Formats: sequence, C-alpha cells, structure tokens
Amino acid sequence: MNPASNAVELTRRLVRFNTVNPPGNERECNHYLGGLLQAAGFSVAYHEFADSRTTLIARLAGRRGKKPLCFTGHVDVVPLGARPWKVEPFGAEMSGGKLFGRGSSDTKSGVAAFVAAALEMGKDLERGPGVVMVITAGEETGSAGAFQVAALGAAALGEAGAIVVAEPTGNRPLAGHKGALWLKARTRGRTAHASIPHEGVNAVYKAARVIAKLERYGFDAPAHPAMGSPTLNVGTVSGGLNVNSVPDFAEVGIDIRIPLGMDHAQLRSKLADYLAPELDELETTLDMAGVGTDPGHPWVQEICEIMESLLGRRPEPALAPYFTDAGALTPAYGGVPTVILGPGEIEMAHQTDEYCHVSKIEQAFEAYRMIIQRWQNA
Ligand SMILES: [Zn+2]
Repeated sequence: MNPASNAVELTRRLVRFNTVNPPGNERECNHYLGGLLQAAGFSVAYHEFADSRTTLIARLAGRRGKKPLCFTGHVDVVPLGARPWKVEPFGAEMSGGKLFGRGSSDTKSGVAAFVAAALEMGKDLERGPGVVMVITAGEETGSAGAFQVAALGAAALGEAGAIVVAEPTGNRPLAGHKGALWLKARTRGRTAHASIPHEGVNAVYKAARVIAKLERYGFDAPAHPAMGSPTLNVGTVSGGLNVNSVPDFAEVGIDIRIPLGMDHAQLRSKLADYLAPELDELETTLDMAGVGTDPGHPWVQEICEIMESLLGRRPEPALAPYFTDAGALTPAYGGVPTVILGPGEIEMAHQTDEYCHVSKIEQAFEAYRMIIQRWQNA
C-alpha cells in the first residue's frame, strides 16, 4: 500500500470513533493515535480536562537550535443535526472518490494526514528539528483541550517554531483568523404572580431591551484591512420558569468576532457600559485571540510554493472566517508563524452527509510530508 493511502485508511479508522461533542469521549480515539505514534518511537503524553476528554501531545525531535514544527487538529466532532443522514455517520464509507462520515472534513482527515506524514518520516525526524503534534479534545465547543495544554505551557507543549492547523481549507493555505469573545449577558428581576405583574420586576423585559440595544450596536473602530470590522451575533436567549410568573432571571448569549489589533478587554468594557442600565451581569465564556501571520513571511511563501507544485497554481493565503485552536496555541508557543491548511472542505464542516475528497487527503499527506522535509533541512 502506498503511504498516502495510509492517510486515507487512518482517516476511516478515526471516523469510526464516535467523538460527537458533547459529550466528546475523545480518549479512545486519541489513545489509538498515541499507540501508533508510540510504537514508531514518538514520545506521547495525554492530558484530560475532564473525564474521557483527552488531548494527545506526541513529539519526535532531534537537533537542537531550530525548534520543531507543530501540527494541530482536533478529534471531537459536532452533533449529527436534525436532518437524517443518507450514509452511516460513523461508517467511513467510500464512494465516488469521497470518504463520508462525521468529522471526515472537520478535522479527522487533517489529523490522519499529518500523523501519517510524521509516521512516514519516522526516525529520520531525529536528524532535524522534528515535529510536535497537538491533537486536541473539545475544540468544537470553545477549544477547552487547547486552552488546557496552553495553560500548562512549555512543560506540556514543549517548543515549536511554527504551526500548521489542519482545519478544512480544501488544501489552500490561510494565514490567520479573527479572534472571538463569547459573553453571557444576564438580567435579574423580582418574581411575582402573573396576575399582579406590577408587583414584580420582569427580567425578560430587561433582556429584550438588552437584545434591542445589541442589534443596534455599532463598533466604533476602523475596519482591519484584511479582516474587516468586528461582528456581533445574539445566538441564544433564555429566561423565566413558567408562563404564570413574572420572571426574575434571563440570559442572552453573545458571540463577537474581532479582527487582529483590537483589544478584547477594552471592547468588552465598552459594551458593558453601553448595556449598563439594563444589565446585571456580563460573563465571559470564551476569549480567543485572533491569529495572523504576514502572508509574505518566508515560511508562508515556502508553503505556497509547495502547494503550487501540488495544486498547479500558486495560492494566495487568505483568512479563515472561523476560529481554530491556534487562538490558544499560537500565543502559547510565543506567537510563532501559523498557517491553516487541511484537506477537508469548509462547506462540508458541520453538514449532514459530511465528506472529504479522497484525493485531497492524499494531497494533504504529500503537502505535510514536504513541509516537514523542508523544515528538517532548512
Ligand atoms: Zn474543526
């Protein structure tokens, strides 16, 4: 069997682990990968941020002086959704040049391709700076696994000189993404029987005023030349216990996407001031840094060159609309150059009947192998 088809077989193997998050259950999947890597001489460590929520860090590095190259991807997948699937979501069926299954694009194909590439290089990695692989749990619900190992710092992560994030890009390299701030805005009131509402204070009415103000909110910041302006979305709202009581509690979930160069804390405090008259509490549930590497950086250009040889035309590194674990890992590795490059299709991520093109998995394997080789020899 040729090495690229090992990447395809490994993708199928990973898709067959049910790692729907919640609950995740990434342990078995990551121990399977850890076992393969350990047998090939990689040093392997597991970190759990909760029971069965396992992140794997594997490394094989040699020469000192130049730091290893980091690859990252996640093995948790999003739920199947309400629409019925035509294929078995964990069957990893192949037909018409496609590999079907939940996580086939996002991001098990990417993980399989870089693990297969690292296995292919094997002990040769010891003759150069080598690689470190951070294969996370809990990415889809706010990167809990990546934040855990980032907080542990160099003791867990070791060092890295650059990061490749294997999120779905259809094998077109991207040079960064916006940051994100998730907030819970809470309003409180005083309960009363619904027949005498004037005796209470209605927290849902307060939340409605918060939502109306959020819809009108304008960020008074100049747009980032490549990332544009910040955006805001109210994604959830809840409040009240029963129809015949005045509700004393309501909660509004807010998702803000922030271009590079904007201070998250400042933005948050401006928003808190703006909502102050109605607001009782504002909790931050996710604070993810944006990531941006100069597209002209020599390593990014080197990757573009490698991709040109595989794609037949030179890609222009754009920016991802979504965030990735790099928001936690890139700062933890000291702000190193970061490229997002993976075989999955972004249109397929989180979709019913998710698939990945088999040829793109083989191409990603080849790309990662070449990226590692250049890193080794430079
Ligand atoms: Zn993903």
